Amino acid sequence: MSASDPVANLQALIRCPSVTPAEGGALSALEAMLTPLGFVVERMVASEPGTPDIENLYARLGTEGPHLMFAGHTDVVPTGDEASWSHPPFAAAIDGDMLYGRGAVDMKGGIACFVAAVARHIEKHGPPKGSISFLITGDEEGPAVNGTEKLLKWAADKGERWDACLVGEPTNPDRLGDMIKIGRRGSVSGRVTVHGVQGHAAYPHLADNPVRGLLPLAQALMDPPFDGGTPEFPASNLEVTSVDVGNPATNVIPAKATFAFNIRFNDTWTADSVKAEILRRMETAAVSSPLRPDREPVRFEVVWAERPNHVFLTRNNGLIASLSGAVESVTGKTPALSTTGGTSDARFIKDYCPVVEFGLVGQTMHMIDERVALADLETLTQIYGTFISRWFDNALLS
Ligand SMILES: [Zn+2]
Repeated sequence: MSASDPVANLQALIRCPSVTPAEGGALSALEAMLTPLGFVVERMVASEPGTPDIENLYARLGTEGPHLMFAGHTDVVPTGDEASWSHPPFAAAIDGDMLYGRGAVDMKGGIACFVAAVARHIEKHGPPKGSISFLITGDEEGPAVNGTEKLLKWAADKGERWDACLVGEPTNPDRLGDMIKIGRRGSVSGRVTVHGVQGHAAYPHLADNPVRGLLPLAQALMDPPFDGGTPEFPASNLEVTSVDVGNPATNVIPAKATFAFNIRFNDTWTADSVKAEILRRMETAAVSSPLRPDREPVRFEVVWAERPNHVFLTRNNGLIASLSGAVESVTGKTPALSTTGGTSDARFIKDYCPVVEFGLVGQTMHMIDERVALADLETLTQIYGTFISRWFDNALLS
């Protein structure tokens, strides 16, 4: 079977029920496409106490540089109520001009198209003058501790080096060609506990209400804005995501109150500097709260969530121009270069090589009736193929 048809590739992948953490046959199906193309395929199982073992795949074609990596995941989110689907979620049914199934756009579709693009490139030009690799995890939609991060380290420890990476996540909001992602905001979360003194609500002078301490602290984090945005990024934004006192009594001043927050920050900040700013704001608010006149400063502590997600921005012009030029030549549209949205596995890859993201239209991802237009699969395959040619031409020149 030739792997040059993205529709056939995608059907084979969707028919493997690879809901995280199950491999479901999806990596084996991918291996069966890549091996005949000449890829050396390795399977790597990652483990961590307290989490399920995860199967991952690394495949490389060629031994020389320049080296282009395609990264993605074959795991999918649960189907939800299967009876609500128009077609069974793992049947890969074609209805009219649409292909239905879990993972159709997020992101077995992206993988199917990149495989097809590589197959066509080999048919037309022979193997690339350099190397192409697939770095595919089964742990993106889950806790992501046994996925891309470990797989990258495992490959790098064996001596693998990459010059650039394309992540095939769905990046287009409405139509193919809308948007390339060239960076991602960082994310930091924390939980603040404010300590007070428990007492009778009728005798507040004998107590110290932690809610009076919590309010100015939370306010100070939400206003004023952290910044006004940068040329490449929207403004950083902090949301208080939970406020918890857990006090069922109306006549009791509670002993403590807590709140949680999450900030999505741009390249004005690092994870450390944004944490310092958050602390500074709360320390200032703690001594000057009008809700607690003539009181000692608010006593509080912050517990930061493990492992912040660092902000990154790719400035590799050759990579961005190859991709955006490919999108333009196939679709006639100039894609926006965006840094919006949540985090992605690109946050791990950026420590190894420049990384950009481009894939299908994301509208139905994670939904009932996830589906992709057959025409989009063909178009994305052509975009990826043009990108591969342009990227190698560019990398071999420089
Ligand atoms: Zn995804």
